[in-house]
Amino acid sequence: MLNKNYDVIVVGAGFAGLTAARELSNKGHKTLILEGRDRMGGRTWVDHRMGKDLEMGGTYVHWFQPHIWAEIIRYNLEIKEVPTLNEAYWIANGELKTGTKDEMFGKIEEGMNIFLKDTMKYFPRPYDPFYEEDLVKEVDHLSVADRLREIRSEVSDEIYELLRAYWSTYFNTDDLEVPGLTQAYRWAALADNDWKMLEDIFELYKIKDGTKALIESIYDDSEADLQLSTPVSVIERMDEGYKVFTRGGQVFTATSVIAAIPINVINNIDFKPALLDEKHQISTEKQSSQGQKVWARVRGLTDTAVMAAPCEFPVNSAHVDTIDGDEGYLMGYISNAAKLDADNPAEVEELFRNWLPHIEVIECTGHNWVEDEFSQGAWPVLRKNQLTKYGKAVRESEEGLFLASSDYADGWAGFMDGAIESGLTTSKRVKEYLQRVKLNLV
Ligand SMILES: Cc1cc2nc3c(=O)[nH]c(=O)nc-3n(C[C@H](O)[C@H](O)[C@H](O)COP(=O)(O)OP(=O)(O)OC[C@H]3O[C@@H](n4cnc5c(N)ncnc54)[C@H](O)[C@@H]3O)c2cc1C
Repeated sequence: MLNKNYDVIVVGAGFAGLTAARELSNKGHKTLILEGRDRMGGRTWVDHRMGKDLEMGGTYVHWFQPHIWAEIIRYNLEIKEVPTLNEAYWIANGELKTGTKDEMFGKIEEGMNIFLKDTMKYFPRPYDPFYEEDLVKEVDHLSVADRLREIRSEVSDEIYELLRAYWSTYFNTDDLEVPGLTQAYRWAALADNDWKMLEDIFELYKIKDGTKALIESIYDDSEADLQLSTPVSVIERMDEGYKVFTRGGQVFTATSVIAAIPINVINNIDFKPALLDEKHQISTEKQSSQGQKVWARVRGLTDTAVMAAPCEFPVNSAHVDTIDGDEGYLMGYISNAAKLDADNPAEVEELFRNWLPHIEVIECTGHNWVEDEFSQGAWPVLRKNQLTKYGKAVRESEEGLFLASSDYADGWAGFMDGAIESGLTTSKRVKEYLQRVKLNLV
């Protein structure tokens, strides 16, 4: 059955897709969103488990992230801070060390200042990743592990282990040979090359009513039609516009299409004709994150705490999210989803006891974003060489077909802010395209 025409079909109801759909539909363009999952939000997901609304994916926000902050203000959403973390436990060279959070963070900052010292040389304008393209090309072949080796003699063993713990966390991988150093520099540049600021951005403030509140605000503010549980299988270019086929056998037509989907799943859709080679190649290589979060309801806490351990551990950083008496919730970042079963209390308890030997895990949970067919990875982290090899091509439109996502953002790529940025900039380009079609200029 051939359904009625749209100006734009947006594939994917994550932050990028919903933002683009809001912008276009509110300008009078007839817009349809087709979402594969039975919910909106994509790699953000508030799910009620273990007696609490838990953020299974993207969570933390900051005023250094202008696109999401503007949305938070626009919809009058409240922010809440994670509890002040007093104690710190970190593992370095197989030994458990304890101190205050300030002590541990002081050590990390000392190492990060050395690790990140050349950041601004490569990304003096953080929203223009190609501003110093020739210089960036010189270092894009380097991984985070390469940079760690370069500075090895300048930092103590303990700081080296803490740097490995934090880059494993930030880049959600246990193999630091893979993620590109340029992505580390890009994030640092956006935080004014101040590691403590970057850490605050990474995990200090959340939306009080959850990311769901912002997702719903954006959707409620749009005029777009939405169909959930509708995976798209084929996007075919016609003489005029596109045909979009769903797995369930529906066919929709539109003048323009935005595939607001992650890098890792581009190749799950059959594009006819094929996209630019680079787009398929990056999807085949995949971006490098391969982890997820683990949430644990625990007993036996003595105080709020932050924990760290190097790449060999399945969780490289964790903290107390809430505490009530000696009970509370811990949240940790698993750097390789295959290495820890987040739903197995015995495994999770054994892991957390590396730092807190007296705790008991009552129950635990997580969502495996790597096995999830609609993401096949967690937050986007480019591998070495991917920025300069594919970065420009993934931003290129092809006769009314556009990619949008945090994965292709100029600024906070990897964060919700980047998804909103990409939704906004892509919608502007689509508006211009529709205008050109109307004037018969295409
Ligand atoms: C564990 C985790 C922790 C994170 N922590 C943070 C954080 O604290 N702060 C932060 O800012 N960011 C964080 N992020 C990153 C952030 O969540 C993402 O960058 C952002 O949500 C991506 O939005 P998006 O719209 O680009 O992509 P997505 O949210 O992935 O949206 C893409 C949508 O497309 C749909 N889709 C895919 N294929 C198809 C298809 N064939 N047909 C139809 N629909 C399809 C998907 O179901 C999905 O809804 C985290 C992510 C994870 C996984």
